[in-house]
Amino acid sequence: MVETISTSREAILLEEQYGAHNYHPLPVVLTKGEGVFLWDVEGKRYYDFLSAYSAVNQGHCHPRIINALIQQAKELTLTSRAFYNDKLGIAEKYVCETFGYQKALFMNSGAEANETAIKLARKWGYTKKGIPDNQAVIVCVSQNFHGRTTTIISASSDAIARSGFGPFMPGFKIVAYDNVDVLKEALANPDVCALWIEPIQGEAGVYVPQAGYLKAAEELCLKHNVLLMMDEIQTGIARTGSMLASDHENVHPDILILGKAISGGVLPISVVLANDEIMLVIKPGEHGSTFGGNPLAAVVCMEALKVVKDEALADNAEKLGSVFRRRMEELMKKTNLILQVRGKGLLNAIVINDSPQSETAWNICIDLMNHGMLAKPTHGNIIRLAPPLVINEEQIHECCDIIEQCVLNFRK
Ligand code: PLP
Repeated sequence: MVETISTSREAILLEEQYGAHNYHPLPVVLTKGEGVFLWDVEGKRYYDFLSAYSAVNQGHCHPRIINALIQQAKELTLTSRAFYNDKLGIAEKYVCETFGYQKALFMNSGAEANETAIKLARKWGYTKKGIPDNQAVIVCVSQNFHGRTTTIISASSDAIARSGFGPFMPGFKIVAYDNVDVLKEALANPDVCALWIEPIQGEAGVYVPQAGYLKAAEELCLKHNVLLMMDEIQTGIARTGSMLASDHENVHPDILILGKAISGGVLPISVVLANDEIMLVIKPGEHGSTFGGNPLAAVVCMEALKVVKDEALADNAEKLGSVFRRRMEELMKKTNLILQVRGKGLLNAIVINDSPQSETAWNICIDLMNHGMLAKPTHGNIIRLAPPLVINEEQIHECCDIIEQCVLNFRK
């Protein structure tokens, strides 16, 4: 019986043998995190440029969030929603006031929050918009990523996410992303209850839509009495240089979906926000989750959001994001290995000039890892670069130096 791991190799072999093979991790075994840094079991330090897919915006093991977790864990962790608890209402009020909604519904994972939004939109469609029973359509966009449940992958255009998992849930219409004309047509269908989008497509490879797209989408939703459901699970909580990516265009979705960094990466917490007219269509017994809204999550979520505000992490993301992209644009002039640099705030990607099937981006990430920086390709030739938002300017430059060195020295 193995109780402690002393080498990376040991840990990797164990996971290979006993764990499901549903991920393809970089060969690094992490044991400790603090702020922007991670350490492997051999004691080597790395800059984290993934931030657990943007869940650790506040930095690893933020002392204020960990302290809130410990204090509450000693008092009460879980009651279920069969009873009230003395923390949930405070957290609901806090998130409602922070994001400007009347009601909040706490869940756990991002996928569950999206499932919640789908149920809300459909029920609203039948009870408020008058869509005939079982006819509701949700318009979504190609290359979306909203999670892994069977309903959510029914709305996906990604063959790998879907293959072998049918039959699929009906009621989704997939249209092109970043295209206002297709929305004009799709949203005019009277059976459409919602438009479901990410303000910047993270998993797809950090696709930033043209300025004005989100605003136009919001206006079209208003015109056709369609709910705007915004999945800000990856883009929210200061990642793109404002509390929400929707804020950049002054867009206020009808249903806001948050996850990941609302816990600072400490617990799986997600939340769906909406006004009464929408949220109250769900009645007791129609939706829920044993862990959703537990007092431990309530306390952790509030502290995680307070840290984001107190440490002005959105401003830092905005400022250092510009520094980062400027450095990458300079690097592009020195090599033809980088095709494009794109992103907003500290959610960025470099597109490697090779086919998505090639190993080039992966091998660059291995080289980055050897030089003390952790990042991972998405969709083959795109490397997403998203450090914790507590990173400082000197550290950003140091990481840009590492990227520059690895890219310029890269040999196939
Ligand atoms: N929505 C978006 C935009 C995401 O980026 C993710 C995860 O990467 C999810 C939903 C799914 O969240 P979870 O993995 O917590 O279910």
